[in-house]
Amino acid sequence: MSIDIVFPGGRTKALTLSYDDGRDFDRRLVRIFNDHGLKGTFHLNAGLLNDSPVKIDLEEIAEVYAGHEISCHAFTHPFLERLPRTEVMREVWKDRETLEAYAHYPVTGMSYPYGSSDDTVVEILRACGIEYCRTTQSTRKFGIPNEFLLWHPTCHHREMLELAPNFLNYHYAPAVFYVWGHSYEFGNNGNWDDMEKFADMVAGRNDVWYVTNIDLARYIKASRALVTATDGRSAFNPSGVTVWARGANGPVPVLPGATAAL
Ligand SMILES: [Zn+2]
Repeated sequence: MSIDIVFPGGRTKALTLSYDDGRDFDRRLVRIFNDHGLKGTFHLNAGLLNDSPVKIDLEEIAEVYAGHEISCHAFTHPFLERLPRTEVMREVWKDRETLEAYAHYPVTGMSYPYGSSDDTVVEILRACGIEYCRTTQSTRKFGIPNEFLLWHPTCHHREMLELAPNFLNYHYAPAVFYVWGHSYEFGNNGNWDDMEKFADMVAGRNDVWYVTNIDLARYIKASRALVTATDGRSAFNPSGVTVWARGANGPVPVLPGATAAL
């Protein structure tokens, strides 16, 4: 008997939304997410927030992004691969350190400024305790990444309405729809309706898990770490996250540190 990984409650799909730069338009975006039960991740440059009247202040981030994820985007938004490596480390570490002082939890997610990186940057992120980092290379697919420090999204939000029906009709589990963008694009282009329309289409479905980037990354890593028996009838979960596995009897939660019959 084989064992599949599914999401909490036996759901087969996950939707995660990822927004960069901490602009004031994030407030409106968070309201739309909250109204529809969607979860967002917000990638912030801690060194730029309080200098700008059009960005969320550091003192506000815990409140504005409550229920969503605060994540790194480097301290001052540089092209990381063009910096001396010690400066890459400072950019990532200072961003983490400053955001954590206001978020009050480990801030270990990230997206690349300008979407750009190289092998050295990836290794420095790993050394700084970053758990995932998103690129800007759209796959237009619903797969899960091999390397979470090079997490390629499904699409920018300009393509989300086009791809949403494919996602909702998609039959291979587990499927991840990862949308990224900037909230100011909705403000500048006057197309907030697109996000409202998308949220109406995808919200409230019992086969979709609405989840932040970090919770999804941790869940998938924990799923991959599941220890399964040769006959597929049981599994041990060595991680700290409850993982759902689907064996002969359907989806079953495997609790942290426990063995479950499947
Ligand atoms: Zn950015």
